[in-house]
Amino acid sequence: MAETPHGQGQETLSNLLQESRSFPPPADLAAHANVQADAYEAASADRLRFWEDQARRLQWEQPWSNVLEWNPPFAKWFTGGTINAAVNCLDRHVDAGLGERVAYHWEGEPGDTRTITYAQLKDMVCQASNALLELGVAKGDRVAIYMPMIPETVVAMLACARIGAVHMVVFGGFSVDALGTRLDDSQAKLVITADGGYRRGKPSSLKPAVDAAVRDRPAVEHVLVVRRTGQDVEWTEGRDVWWHDAVEGQSTEHTAEAHDAEHPLYIMYTSGTTAKPKGILHTTGGYLTQVSYTHWAVFDLKADTDVFWTAADIGWVTGHSYIVYGPLSNGATSVMYEGTPDTPHKGRFWEIVQKYGVTIAYMAPTAIRTFMKWGEEHPARFDLSSLRVLGSVGEPINPEAYMWYRTHIGGGRAPVVDTWWQTETGAIMVSPLPGVTAGKPGAAMRPLPGVEVDVVDDQGKSVPNGGGGFIVVREPWPSMLRGIWGDPERYEKTYWSRFEGLYFPGDGAKRDEDGDIWLLGRVDDVMLVSGHNISTTEVESALVSHPKVAEAAVTGATDPVTGQAIVAFVILRGEAGDGGTELVKDLRDHVAAHLGAIAKPRQIMVVPELPKTRSGKIMRRLLRDVAENRELGDVSTLTDAQSIQTLKDAFQQGG
Ligand code: ATP
Ligand code: MG
Repeated sequence: MAETPHGQGQETLSNLLQESRSFPPPADLAAHANVQADAYEAASADRLRFWEDQARRLQWEQPWSNVLEWNPPFAKWFTGGTINAAVNCLDRHVDAGLGERVAYHWEGEPGDTRTITYAQLKDMVCQASNALLELGVAKGDRVAIYMPMIPETVVAMLACARIGAVHMVVFGGFSVDALGTRLDDSQAKLVITADGGYRRGKPSSLKPAVDAAVRDRPAVEHVLVVRRTGQDVEWTEGRDVWWHDAVEGQSTEHTAEAHDAEHPLYIMYTSGTTAKPKGILHTTGGYLTQVSYTHWAVFDLKADTDVFWTAADIGWVTGHSYIVYGPLSNGATSVMYEGTPDTPHKGRFWEIVQKYGVTIAYMAPTAIRTFMKWGEEHPARFDLSSLRVLGSVGEPINPEAYMWYRTHIGGGRAPVVDTWWQTETGAIMVSPLPGVTAGKPGAAMRPLPGVEVDVVDDQGKSVPNGGGGFIVVREPWPSMLRGIWGDPERYEKTYWSRFEGLYFPGDGAKRDEDGDIWLLGRVDDVMLVSGHNISTTEVESALVSHPKVAEAAVTGATDPVTGQAIVAFVILRGEAGDGGTELVKDLRDHVAAHLGAIAKPRQIMVVPELPKTRSGKIMRRLLRDVAENRELGDVSTLTDAQSIQTLKDAFQQGG
């Protein structure tokens, strides 16, 4: 963790933004909500018992003997218990007579579709399990999955889970290098990929990157290839195997073994927003318990009537927990979409909502801000009245983006749940409950039942209402990371060394006068201006509240007078033109009027794009490199390495 301005005796994060809007749950939703207010009391009366109750939502082969073994910072949950994640996601529902229920409405980018029931998905997973065993994959082996968003990606993950192999999904947009370092890290034996997938209206290839990455990596014995686009691929006899040859002829019978609750389920890399990505390890029983509970509680999931859609890639933890393990363990019907939101038109997401009658949608603020930029006329063309709960994840949601989402997508009726969590936490930690909480635009509100999250000052002391500091977790939780793959030291150092006995996620937060929690961005990104700590999030939200601004990124740059000065990069809304000095002055005044003169940016640059990770997060550390005229740091998870160079050049020319 980089040194931060904190710990030098300065005051804690300032608490500048004033937001007084609040939206109580719709009466009907509240009356029938899965979770009522008493859940908080039940959980705080006996947290471990609460999690045992949630674990009983699942089917265990052998019940656990011990709910938690806690040797800080190492936790083991539900020890002695045995469970199979794939059985919980599939066989259990088929056995209960739900085999004909749709697991996925899959929509390809070109418009091709597949409807896959629980019974069909179970058969596919059994076939793939048999194929993996035949390819020599054994329990505990690592399998890399480098795929487009197609049903076989889910099948591959669950087949691994079924036989006890550890899956490591690598986002299909990553380069050869990113894939290669992850293969080195994990020593995967098998890579599952496809010839390609569809992105932005054309086939984009995957197999050539695998060929290049695997060339000097003898640990990889086989490459299993799904045919998706039909494009030409190079073929290495003996190593490469077609999915349709190896999998589709297999028996649909596979008897699953139950694995230890602490058996590794997967490795997933963090987004690389603040530093080089970390390979996070998750295990089986505790992980599945918390994703299953949170999916049911936070989205108020009614498995027999809802149509749930997480519009994210499976290559991120959000996809793992809320496209695959959460929805399937709950027997839900989900939508899965292969492509981009503007192909073939800017209303594609809303067309999908209308087509499948999506009732719950979950996406990132970056997507919402993009939709704002495109304009509300796109969603207005479709019937979105089926939507009843909206979720947000990945970054703090700016109050204006929240209002736009609630108004133009949710019809002013559907509550927005802003869910704070991380790859490391495995599942949602802080979020409103849609039938209980009166949501505030921009606030993640309260820790979920059974989760002990706090906001502390730089001494680790809980801050009173109205105070700001760092978000921490005080007690272990079932879906917590079990470590960083291959690097136990980095685990202790990154998460457990900042505050004695507390888990430190690296995010700043404040607690408002009602005790509700607001996330303020990365601690690494906090700016220290004339002795005041100022959060990037608050300045960005102030900029986004200007009618001409769609998106903003803020960073602190060294300044001879103020220590650090605020430098802002903004993207304008569709109709706002291209800036000019008048607008820049207007924006600086706007920030000052909202937050006070101390938060007035020294510089504002209007840009066409911001540097983002492949999961859509703004990489402020690169903007700081630009603003301070330094070499750019690790760009391995950046969407577009060229645009940051262009931005750097423009900035140097006094942009
Ligand atoms: P890296 O750890 O490699 O820098 P990353 O932190 O972006 O990358 P993820 O695990 O994908 O990797 O993202 C988790 C982080 O995303 C959180 O620590 C937090 O900063 C941010 N985040 C996620 N959801 C929210 C939310 N609802 N509100 C505010 N911040 C959020
Ligand atoms: Mg992180």
